[in-house]
Amino acid sequence: MKRSLLAIAAVVSLASLSAARPAGANSMVTHVWVAEQSITQIEPGALRDIVSDPALRGVIQNGAIYPDSGYSVRHEYGEWAHWESWVEPYLQWIRARWGAEGYRSADARRHVAFLMGCAAHSMTDQTFDQYFVARARQYDRTDADNLDVGSDAWLVVEHGVTSEADGLFWVDEMPAIHAAVGGPSVTPAVLSEAGNLTAAGTRFLVRFGHTLYAARWRDYPWAASHYMDADTPGSYPRLVSTTAAYWRFLWRRLQGDAPPGAPPIYSWPSPGQVNFPVDHGDIESRAVVTTPWGLDDATVNDGTVRILGPGDAPVPARVSRYGDHGNTLMIRPMADLAYDTPYRVSLSASLRTLEGSLTGAEQTIAFRTRCAPDRLAQCPPLPTPRPTLSAPPVSTPRPPPGLDAGSGTVVIEPDDAGALDAAADDVATLDAAMAMDAGGAPTKEGCGCRAGTSGAGGGVGWLSLVALAGLSRRRQRRAPLPSISRRT
Ligand SMILES: [Zn+2]
Repeated sequence: MKRSLLAIAAVVSLASLSAARPAGANSMVTHVWVAEQSITQIEPGALRDIVSDPALRGVIQNGAIYPDSGYSVRHEYGEWAHWESWVEPYLQWIRARWGAEGYRSADARRHVAFLMGCAAHSMTDQTFDQYFVARARQYDRTDADNLDVGSDAWLVVEHGVTSEADGLFWVDEMPAIHAAVGGPSVTPAVLSEAGNLTAAGTRFLVRFGHTLYAARWRDYPWAASHYMDADTPGSYPRLVSTTAAYWRFLWRRLQGDAPPGAPPIYSWPSPGQVNFPVDHGDIESRAVVTTPWGLDDATVNDGTVRILGPGDAPVPARVSRYGDHGNTLMIRPMADLAYDTPYRVSLSASLRTLEGSLTGAEQTIAFRTRCAPDRLAQCPPLPTPRPTLSAPPVSTPRPPPGLDAGSGTVVIEPDDAGALDAAADDVATLDAAMAMDAGGAPTKEGCGCRAGTSGAGGGVGWLSLVALAGLSRRRQRRAPLPSISRRT
């Protein structure tokens, strides 16, 4: 009886999470990991003192799961908290209170830490989706809808990553802050439930995500073999470097001395890039630009964000924006580019930041296309040629040696907690649970995030997750890190 109840609880919990989580983007283990890795890239100084403060580690971790926590209770604050729609007004709220004192007080430091955690989540989601997931869809020929949990599983198994985010948001303080910055109304009860659900779901992924490890490898061989490759756009090392760059600029915004015309913090192509592909159907020919400012949506269009060729001739292109107030712009050429020709991505001086300033200066990213196949000698060599439609990337379709589950079933090492194993050692069961969708608002381009009405469907999942999380914690004390073995 107890065993079957726990098995049901596991499936219900995962279904609840699945219905709430974004399609694409990243999952919780990755979000906490990126935030923590970004700390190490911040130079010594006032910002580093805050983000590296051991007393604020949990605050940054909770910031890093805060945006997705809204999805867990189907509350609209989840989507809103993903973008500059939250980051910019919250930053200004912090600045108004503690800017003059230089963010030295304890309250200032914890709010800056929480802001940086939220900002890490935002930048990670949009960078991964727009640079990496877009490629995974083409190279792995899949919708990539389960790539978020899959890459969490790879991170847990291949790198031993865990998460300690406890989801204890400042439930008495946050509702007033939401109101002060014009955000969706929340109550302490909503935030408590959201925090519990999300932290418990994160622990569940850490503990049992490995049961999906090999299956996701088989689903996404290109993604699995490239997600840690620093040379692959939007890979995990790039999530960290872009988040750190965003943090540095947010710190300047907190000081009030950030230049409106600041250059992008990440882009494809990178400035001065050569051998850029020309086939407009090739994912590699899409330009993607990440700005350090939140930009006013009303000023972003195909007249202000362009690809210009010789004589400043614009390339016909479709411009899209990630999320309602994301920092990432994608420019899809609608015609092939010319071989061996200089182009530039151009962001107009008439773009306006959410702070209200005109950027006031054109930002350009110059690049040059590759040579025609019969004129390769006239271009720089292709030491690491980009994959193309006709020459797809070479992927390793299997997990690394030692982690290869082969064609057998991935199982949890035997221990005495058979009840949960009954629910979780079957990849088909987990897959079925993750595929369940209890409904939600229609997805939108780029974001793919789902948000619905407050509380709907969250209660049962919350109760079962609490039970699972408790058992998971007990098991973690007596069981080693997740490991994989072949069933014999
Ligand atoms: Zn998210």
